[in-house]
Amino acid sequence: MSEDCIFCQIVAGDIPSRTVYEDDTVFAFLDANPLSPGHTLVIPKAHHERLNDTPADVAGEVLSTLHELVPAVEAAVDAPASTVAFNNGEAAGQEVPHVHGHIVPRFEDDGGRPIHALVTDRPDLSDDELDDIEDDIVAEQA
Ligand code: AMP
Ligand code: ZN
Repeated sequence: MSEDCIFCQIVAGDIPSRTVYEDDTVFAFLDANPLSPGHTLVIPKAHHERLNDTPADVAGEVLSTLHELVPAVEAAVDAPASTVAFNNGEAAGQEVPHVHGHIVPRFEDDGGRPIHALVTDRPDLSDDELDDIEDDIVAEQA
């Protein structure tokens, strides 16, 4: 547990939450400032700042819980769709430094936008640049 982490304090029960799922590893609760009815956050109980810091087995359990909860959340609020996403790091808009997946129920004509609307100025990458990026990502996994 990280003493000054708000999500660790939620897991510990020191801050109240509307809990929708809990097991030994994972915790899920309603977002206190929801983007839509049913907006849910899924977190590991242990403090890991972002996906990059999260052990693979824990990340797998978070994803597995997202997989279970997405249909339950959608059904609970009668949503035909949802946006499921991580703000992974401060530059990506992560405000709480304890990794969390968002389930944001979506509705026809809700005025929300797709992930493709995250960026307004898309980079104009050449084929060579794309080839280099492809190679670099493959090399980083070696
Ligand atoms: P992010 O910007 O991805 O770090 O998202 C953090 C989310 O945590 C926001 O959607 C907040 O509304 C939510 N949040 C912050 N504090 C609480 C809290 N005490 N209980 C529930 N959700 C919270
Ligand atoms: Zn934490």
